[in-house]
Amino acid sequence: MIPPPDSNPAGGAWHSEDALRTYHIDRWGGGLLGVSESGELTITPAPDSGVGAISMMEVIAEVAREGISLPVVVRFQDLLRRQVLKLCGAFAAAIEAEGYRGRFTGVFPIKVNQMREVVEDIVEAGEGYHFGLESGSKAELLAALVMNSDPEALTIVNGYKDRSYLKLAMMGRKLGRKVVVVIEKFSELGAVLDAAEEIGVRPLIGFRAKLATRGSGKWADSGGDKAKFGLTVAEILKCAALLRDRGATDCAKLFHFHIGSQVTDIRTVKDALTEGARIFAGMVAEGMPLEYFDVGGGLGVDYIGAKSDNESSINYTLKDYVEDVIGILKEVCDAGGVPHPNIVSESGRMLTACHSCVVLEVFDKRKTVQTDYPTTEVDGEHQLVKNMRAILGRIGPGYYQEAYHDALQTKADAVQAFKLGVLSLDERARAETLFWNVCLRLREQEHDVEFVPEEMHELEAAMSEQYFCNFSIFQSVPDTWAIGQVLPVVPLHRLDERPTVLSTLADITCDSDGKIDKFAAVPQPADVLPLHELDGERYFLGIFLTGAYQDVMGDLHNLFGQLNEVHIYTDEAEEGGFYIEESLPGSSAGEVLSMMQYNPKAMAADIKKRLAQLVRGGAMTPRQSVALADFYEDCLKSYTYLDLDRGADGT
Ligand SMILES: *Cc1c(COP(=O)(O)O)cnc(C)c1O
Repeated sequence: MIPPPDSNPAGGAWHSEDALRTYHIDRWGGGLLGVSESGELTITPAPDSGVGAISMMEVIAEVAREGISLPVVVRFQDLLRRQVLKLCGAFAAAIEAEGYRGRFTGVFPIKVNQMREVVEDIVEAGEGYHFGLESGSKAELLAALVMNSDPEALTIVNGYKDRSYLKLAMMGRKLGRKVVVVIEKFSELGAVLDAAEEIGVRPLIGFRAKLATRGSGKWADSGGDKAKFGLTVAEILKCAALLRDRGATDCAKLFHFHIGSQVTDIRTVKDALTEGARIFAGMVAEGMPLEYFDVGGGLGVDYIGAKSDNESSINYTLKDYVEDVIGILKEVCDAGGVPHPNIVSESGRMLTACHSCVVLEVFDKRKTVQTDYPTTEVDGEHQLVKNMRAILGRIGPGYYQEAYHDALQTKADAVQAFKLGVLSLDERARAETLFWNVCLRLREQEHDVEFVPEEMHELEAAMSEQYFCNFSIFQSVPDTWAIGQVLPVVPLHRLDERPTVLSTLADITCDSDGKIDKFAAVPQPADVLPLHELDGERYFLGIFLTGAYQDVMGDLHNLFGQLNEVHIYTDEAEEGGFYIEESLPGSSAGEVLSMMQYNPKAMAADIKKRLAQLVRGGAMTPRQSVALADFYEDCLKSYTYLDLDRGADGT
């Protein structure tokens, strides 16, 4: 059914497909997101099952029924399984097609999302492929040794290593696991051999090469001469000599490189592979019995759907990537006369990004364009106000870009005159109101002029409104702040209605950086997001593709703590096609305060004592003091975000 056209004169009828295009959902959504007839955003977490699209608004309703407050992280656990099978399947297909003689296996780098359920689901989904884990620290290895008990699956140990980290790895060998310690710097090799002797096991050793090829995108510096990790070719040869000296050449099992995350350009992948494969073949020719070629991570996610080498995009598909890995490795190995190694991927972003989203609520907005102050001419009005009105009157196709310049200049002059005491408060308000009227009229003119200069697009961002959202970017989407990562944001309902407000998003931290002002768009991210006018009803947004790095890297800015979280599984038998398998409460105010060395119990006792003093002094009744003490304690136990379910009056 096609919804009727709304009252906006700017275009014809608005259809749900318009929403798919407006938010570029068809470009970054991987075919999993859609819009229902009633204008709700839908997700299909298990496309190959009997369960169809799930409405995000039904998820919100279920979350509310469970008594869970927003903002909430929603994990679609089925999507983890799907991504694992997609990655393994793509490699299996290319291996078959190319007649490649090695096997494929993956390891999930725990740092991308350390949540136990995430790690568990990935390992379980990859059982058939002996999917393993990668650790970059002692704590991650402690987890990996428990989570990966398949004797055939790899546990790859990366990162800087002290004695206990190495001993832990060797303990894993003793437990019968395929734990491979990857040497990042020469001095680690002797230490690994020592740790292995101490525990009495034969170590499995990998070598991380420092490639001359630099990555592309945000993490380009993870490769190249100045890279933090990896061995130069000279150091690899020194390692080979040391292994020979200690009679441990047979322990050399794996070759590895990682040129950084989110590699945006496929040409970089090809370059790195060619260089890596050549080093690998050379090492085998030197007599090292390497069995695994580990291509690291870097397989990117197209967050904006542009299919370009923009930092938030990628210019290749999974198939392109996999075929390049297999093709180049086969070619170099065949030319060097060395056997095809088994291939390992440490892809993390690709596996997890799509499985989770943040659901949040808009609770207010700030209008930038204010035109409700009177501007009719008055006696003795200052010339600058008159000038602004004159600009407004002259605007037309022949006076367009120049009008914009004149208005900007006049506005600046008016502020200057105000500071010098020449313009009154009233006159400044009139000049500024007229300025916004000029901007509005210029935007209307866009339809009548033949060419809209680039500069005039500034207007859109300048006139955009700010929607206040109940969440903290520092907790939930830290990369949008730290590195300018673009993540797609979409209203979860009203998608059958034309969005009429261009907006940016502000969070509830007291930090002016706490905002989102880059949005998924093609070919470039956009400065504004079209949203619906707030109509007094609740308005919900989703931030998507947050499953990699985002929800485990957040911090406690302003003491906004961890979000409530729900884990959703699809099930045909359930109404709506899904159920919440588990809900995890986010941090309470008391919990985040404890992390900062406060003692909530002592704080509550202190407040109680002070209230009692006030009672003794006759400043309040005992009943009042008990009620306030209870209220303080309730606040300590409460969620750190705004309680919009109950409203400002607590009802
Ligand atoms: C971070 C990291 C990864 C994961 O990279 P993605 O781009 O998320 O796939 C893999 N290997 C190593 C060594 C890493 O440091």
